[in-house]
Amino acid sequence: MTIRKGLFIFLPLAFLATLPAGGADALQVASFSTILTEIARQVGGNHVSVAGLVRPGQDPHEYQPTPDDLKKAADAQLILLSGKHLEHYLEKVQQATGGKGESLSVGDALPNLKMKADPDEPEAKAAADRNGMIDDPHWWNSVVNVERATLIVRDELIKLDPANRADYESNAKAYLAKLSQLDAWAKRKVAELPRDMRKLVTSHDAFQYLAKDYGFKVYAIEGVSTETEPSDRHIAELIDEIKKEAVKAIFLENTLNPKVTVEITQETGARIGGTLYADGLGEGDGSTYDGMVRHNITTIVDSLK
Ligand SMILES: [Zn+2]
Repeated sequence: MTIRKGLFIFLPLAFLATLPAGGADALQVASFSTILTEIARQVGGNHVSVAGLVRPGQDPHEYQPTPDDLKKAADAQLILLSGKHLEHYLEKVQQATGGKGESLSVGDALPNLKMKADPDEPEAKAAADRNGMIDDPHWWNSVVNVERATLIVRDELIKLDPANRADYESNAKAYLAKLSQLDAWAKRKVAELPRDMRKLVTSHDAFQYLAKDYGFKVYAIEGVSTETEPSDRHIAELIDEIKKEAVKAIFLENTLNPKVTVEITQETGARIGGTLYADGLGEGDGSTYDGMVRHNITTIVDSLK
């Protein structure tokens, strides 16, 4: 830390003056996803100024934009959205911006997982198709999806600011190299856990993309959103399943109440394996995407072993 501070002080002032550093010349971006906020900052570097409107540790299913958030969205040249129906407040954003600025629904351009909509969840019901299926919005829990999202954000920044194409390309390349290392690490870590022990019991149904990438089966207490309490019948079925499958540990989430999960441990003898970052970045380990994935995978694998 001391060394870094020292280097900073000795940077020539003329060099500092040439950096836009998110100043008036920078491309103004407003992001409704903590993951996309990180991607935009990494790829955009000094050429963008990103307002992260959904903040780390905030539950994106429950989030509502404040008047100040809406003003920032209205002032932005680019609005980044998670997509896959996660932004149930989208109409408010559209009203506030009046169609001004570009809006990019990144998740909608990514491969999709369909899941059964819980008829008791208003958010899920509104988004369900004719067969009662919805798109799983939690695409960021697949590293490969975050790589794809990086390319999408890179191309959008180049489109809006072609003069800085070379910087966006090289920033994206560096970030993608880190993501590729992260995915390789995750595969090695998961390989420590025999396939028949890859049973992930979580607070809400947020890890289907991770499960698909790394060969887990997910059992979720709540549905794809976090807004509805699970039924007694669903909890009873889950308890039977955990006992039958002899699942050793089940997991809490950083943005959710642990009450039901703790009750299930008392009924089943499974222990609490730790707390996962399900819905994006948070405090501590989960303040970066790399840290979040390493925390989640390590917690899951080490607790189920
Ligand atoms: Zn979620």
